[in-house]
Amino acid sequence: MTALPWHRAALRRLLSDRARLPHALLVQGAPGIGKVEFARALAASVLCESPRDGLACGECPSCHWFSQGNHPDFREIVPESAAEEDETEGEAEAKADKPKSMVIKIEQIRAIADLVALSTHRAGYRVLLFHPAESFHPNAANALLKTLEEPPPHTLIILVTAYPARLLPTIRSRCRTLALGTPDTREAVEWLRGQAVDDPGTALAAAGGAPLLARDLAQPEEAELRRRVVAELSKPSGADALGFAAAIDRPRMERFVYWLQTWVSDLLMVRLAGAPRHHVGAAAALSARAKTADVEALFELDRELAEARRLASHPLNPRLLAEHLLMAYNRAVLGTRP
Ligand SMILES: [Zn+2]
Repeated sequence: MTALPWHRAALRRLLSDRARLPHALLVQGAPGIGKVEFARALAASVLCESPRDGLACGECPSCHWFSQGNHPDFREIVPESAAEEDETEGEAEAKADKPKSMVIKIEQIRAIADLVALSTHRAGYRVLLFHPAESFHPNAANALLKTLEEPPPHTLIILVTAYPARLLPTIRSRCRTLALGTPDTREAVEWLRGQAVDDPGTALAAAGGAPLLARDLAQPEEAELRRRVVAELSKPSGADALGFAAAIDRPRMERFVYWLQTWVSDLLMVRLAGAPRHHVGAAAALSARAKTADVEALFELDRELAEARRLASHPLNPRLLAEHLLMAYNRAVLGTRP
């Protein structure tokens, strides 16, 4: 488990005094900056039997197990629906009609309680990683709280979230918080180049500086959806709300909302500060649309999109939501209020 280059300094700081590692750590930061990768690299380093310069050596038995995904003193706990993402497409499709739990369930916490009652296998540490930490079922959150109140010995509990405000305050207060920021642009661009991403600077901007998100968004199908959304939003007469929304199905909804939100945020940036942040290649269209836009309505839509983004992974009716958002967009950019 190699740490991402922009995480190494923070990892070394945290690991410089192993005796003072917290019982529980809450890793928070924007989506797509690699928080889970940070947590895994931290776990690997804590469990490593001969750390090199503070980090996992990658060669000892512990590191070997870790990279094989079967270290006996490490557990990663996610909702069923998130675990499914790692399966091959065929398997996921076969199970598509069987809904998977979106939350971390109390049974998953109980299984962990049984594990921590045993001694560690390698007579060292044990690391439990939970993500995303905002997805605990209320019963599971309460069970976890009990564990945090009486921390088991030699155990590091890591929670990862992009939305810390959605955690129980009592859970937050029992964790040491570690806020990860977006990396230095030069370092992120260099990493993206190593991932064979074309035009890494533009890709990074589109992802708001989050490199892992930038890599995902640069995939051909994702890039194609972005092109279509940007072309639609660029139209001087407004978007074809009904026609375009018809093509937005459940799997595309999350990205559609992301592109609409970044576009609206860029319109506000252009109007108020002069230059876009995300869609740097569409500056001309953005200035043209920003000129006639109703700033109040854009702010309102931006708030609505933030809420929609929270629900975008499981909307009740993707087409209706997309239609509604595009009509609100049209009202905002055409400067006509209902
Ligand atoms: Zn090692």
